[in-house]
Amino acid sequence: MSLPIVIIGAGLSGLLTGYRLKKLGFSITILEARARCGGRIHTVTSLDGTPMEMGATWFGPQHTKLKDLLKELEIPMFEQYNAGAVVFQASSQSPPQRIQIPPQDPSFRIKGGTVVLIQKLMSFFEPEEIQFNEKVREIHF
Ligand SMILES: Cc1cc2nc3c(=O)[nH]c(=O)nc-3n(C[C@H](O)[C@H](O)[C@H](O)COP(=O)(O)OP(=O)(O)OC[C@H]3O[C@@H](n4cnc5c(N)ncnc54)[C@H](O)[C@@H]3O)c2cc1C
Repeated sequence: MSLPIVIIGAGLSGLLTGYRLKKLGFSITILEARARCGGRIHTVTSLDGTPMEMGATWFGPQHTKLKDLLKELEIPMFEQYNAGAVVFQASSQSPPQRIQIPPQDPSFRIKGGTVVLIQKLMSFFEPEEIQFNEKVREIHF
């Protein structure tokens, strides 16, 4: 019987740590302050079903550990379309600007949105192992 482990935060770090430790046989509880998992990874869906990133979006060829993790979890990725021009509006008061995309290294995104990674990690936990609306205020050793 292994010692129970409490992880603070159900962002990518907490969920991945929990997933790895669970695979090693540890008993895990994750305490999350908010009512959702993901932390700085947050994908919302538009009315037409398009996933839109409110946080983490792109990764590059140098992010080899992330790419290994996506392969391990069988999560597909795709290359960001990087040609042509974009329309950028800094605020609702300023007019949109047309900006030509400069040549750059390829970048990648997770198919379906970055939240797919969070949902996949969440699927390895029982509902009671992730407790929401539980903000940790003190730790006593
Ligand atoms: C595919 C991908 C693309 C990315 N793209 C980008 C990018 O384009 N730009 C960029 O800057 N970064 C990017 N990143 C980096 C990424 O956004 C962050 O590094 C990552 O989300 C941080 O995760 P975390 O779990 O460490 O922290 P967080 O996401 O901040 O999670 C911390 C969690 O802990 C909870 N918490 C905090 N305090 C308490 C408490 N007292 N009690 C209980 N819970 C608490 C929070 O509510 C939160 O859920 C990307 C990452 C990925 C995987």
